[in-house]
Formats: sequence, C-alpha cells, structure tokens
Amino acid sequence: MTIPAPTASVDLTLRDISAGTTGGGTCTTELLDAPWDVDARDPGYGPGASMADTAPATAPRQGEIPQEYRAASSEELDRRIRAAKAELGDRVMVLGHFYQRDEVVQYADYVGDSFQLATAATARTEAEAIIFCGVHFMAETADLLSTPEQAVILPNLAAGCSMADMADIDQVEECWEQLMEVYGEGEDADGIAPIVPVTYMNSSAAIKGFVGRHGGIVCTSSNASTVLQWAFERGRRVLFFPDQHLGRNTAKAMGIPLEQMPMWNPRKPLGGNDEQALHEAQVVLWHGFCSVHKRFTTDQIAKARAEHPGVRVIVHPECPMPVVDAADESGSTDYIRKAIEGATEPTSFAIGTEINLVQRLAAQHPQHTIFCLDPVVCPCSTMYRIHPGYLAWALESLLEGEVINRISVGQDVAEPARFALERMLAAKPAPVSSTPGR
Ligand code: SF4
Repeated sequence: MTIPAPTASVDLTLRDISAGTTGGGTCTTELLDAPWDVDARDPGYGPGASMADTAPATAPRQGEIPQEYRAASSEELDRRIRAAKAELGDRVMVLGHFYQRDEVVQYADYVGDSFQLATAATARTEAEAIIFCGVHFMAETADLLSTPEQAVILPNLAAGCSMADMADIDQVEECWEQLMEVYGEGEDADGIAPIVPVTYMNSSAAIKGFVGRHGGIVCTSSNASTVLQWAFERGRRVLFFPDQHLGRNTAKAMGIPLEQMPMWNPRKPLGGNDEQALHEAQVVLWHGFCSVHKRFTTDQIAKARAEHPGVRVIVHPECPMPVVDAADESGSTDYIRKAIEGATEPTSFAIGTEINLVQRLAAQHPQHTIFCLDPVVCPCSTMYRIHPGYLAWALESLLEGEVINRISVGQDVAEPARFALERMLAAKPAPVSSTPGR
C-alpha cells in the first residue's frame, strides 16, 4: 500500500503552530529542528515524548549523513526517493510503522504495527533489502523473521525506543538470578515453573532471546491476555517486561488483584520488594513505560466527554491503568484502526495513542470527528528520528550496491528469540470460562 503525499500531517501541524496560523502547542519547539542537527548534538532520544528519558550509553548513534541529503529540499528528496524505489523495484521493501510521520509513510509498501510489519517482511522473500521506517527493536524483529539473505535497514540508527531500553539485558539477568534465589530453580512435581518470563514485542532481541532461553514467550498489545494465560498454564507467576502498564492492565482485566502485582525496580535489591511479596505475587511487573502513552490522563478524558457529548474514548493499553479504566475501550493500534473503520454512523472519537496515527486516521475518515486526547503535539521522539533524507540515503546507497545501517541479530540471540516468537504464534486464546492465574 502506498499512501499519497500528505496534505495534513504532524510536521505540517507543527509548522502551523510555529507560524502562529493555528492554535495548540507542542511539547518542544525543537521538533522542527533538522534531524541531522539533533543527531549531531544529542546523545538522547531527541525532541518529542521521550526527550526526558535517559538513553543508555550503549544506544547506537547515527553518524553524519552526506551533505547532499541534508541540503536537499523536500521536493528533491521526494523525486529521488520515488526514482530510487522505482529502479530498485522488487529488490527493496519499505515498511512504515503506524507512528511514523506521513512524510515517510507515503513511501511505504506496508504500513502497520510492529508485528504486522515484521511478518510482512517474511511475505516478500524476493526483496533483498527491507527498509524499516520504525525503531530499532522492530528492525531486529524483522531480521529475526526474514531470511538470512535479506538485509534489514534502519534509516537512522538513533531511532531506538525508550521503553525497550528500560529493560536492559544485564539488569534482567540480575533480576532473574535474584528471583531464582527466592523461588528456587526448576519445575514442581506437576511440571509447573516458579515463574515464566513474558516480554512485550517492544523489547530488544537480547530480551526476547533471554525469554526464549528460560521457557518464556513474547506478546503484543493484541494478544497479551492469551499469552499471559499460556504462561499461567506453565508457571505459578509471570515476570512481565518492559511495560508495567500493559502488564498491569492486562492482568487486572484477567482478575488478578493489584496487590499481587509488585513492581520490580532494577536499581533496588529484590526490585524493592520483600520475599513475602514476591512469594505472593502472580505478576512481577518490570519498571518500564512508554513516554508517549504516559502523557494521557483522566483529566483529558473528562474534558473530552464534557466538550464532545457521546464521544467514544479509545486508548492504548500502554496508558496508565486509571486512564484505561476511565476510557470506553482500550486496544492495540490495530484495534483502534478497526474500531474507527467499523463505525457506520458519524462518531466522535477521542484517541489515546501516538499523534501521527491519530491525525492520519482523522484525515482518512473525515465523516468522523477524531482527535488525540493530548492537546499538545508530542510525537514519539524516536520514530521521529526517521526523515525522508535518511530514507533517500538508504535507497540510493542500495542502488550503488551499498547496504547502510544494517540491523543484524547474532545467531546466539536469534535462535532463542525465535523460539519465544514461535511460542507466541502458537498460543491460542483460552476458553472464556477458564480461571486466570493461580
Ligand atoms: S511509542 Fe513508546 S513504545 Fe512505541 S516506539 Fe515510541 S517510545 Fe517506544
């Protein structure tokens, strides 16, 4: 699917706000800075929702890209991207995440959530290169699922994910060691493990590999309850990372009491818990969050209801629990998209997810009133690091026979990470009457 050139986009909204031709505000005026200037000066996540988060010292940096791409106008970049894509034909596939800016999404062959895009990569094995216009963990997942001959390219290496970075592999290994000391290793006489690790798709390949090595599984925001049920069939408890909110919202909806969901803070001994709390736990939640979805509040929902009587409030399950509880519905990006597509009467929708997706849905469905709960324009900082200039650079390098910014997962990590992904694909929803947890 190729989406036409945007006539409305977050970039254009930001320019209008900056020029004073529209109301509203942004979380930072630095959003309008050239991304290569941000790459040159900023070792962090860049302007946007994650700008206050601390990037690990090991986070990849993006070196300077050639001046011709930094100096090119948007019209020139558009012409060069289209020409390079046409010449490369089936040799290249461009993937665009729902949260990516429209100025990049317009060139995507597929647009979707992280897992849809990773599986799309497997559908076109003739493509020698997959240019993933998303963030680092997504490109890693595409590399895990694609063929060894296919090169997965992240156009800007600085496009990480602050949430994924919150579960560092060394901290997770240390946590596991401490939990094994508390629970003891090995299964009981019924073959039940003391704890099963579950990682959200939004995690590094190293974490997926860890989970695979320890009998665990990956989940997405669409299948988290099915996956937790799978884990409870094999273990007394679940260690869920990196997103505490998805873990808490999902486990709560399954009937697990909040007092049996202690949080693990990796900077404290036993994660800041005592042994009794860990023994009584059903879900141990890692101390991670998404800074985009953390911005949504119950006050925003109350305001939307007051100003738009009858509004349908749908939020992503990465939002904090009080926000999910106050919304009418919560679900993945794909759920949100389908809910809007399925509305047969003109409807007001207040959406709690990333602004690029919300504005795109609003443009695609003018019969509805669709707006973001957060009145401040504050995109995902790391998605925002991808700009047409980087895409043009990646495509034209391929034409010259050079693969830049290849994301490649080592075999020692890839094998167990694939186990964890395959377990997820094989997990089936439990019968409705079954009891969650134990
Ligand atoms: S929206 Fe949140 S979880 Fe998704 S890539 Fe951005 S920081 Fe990461």
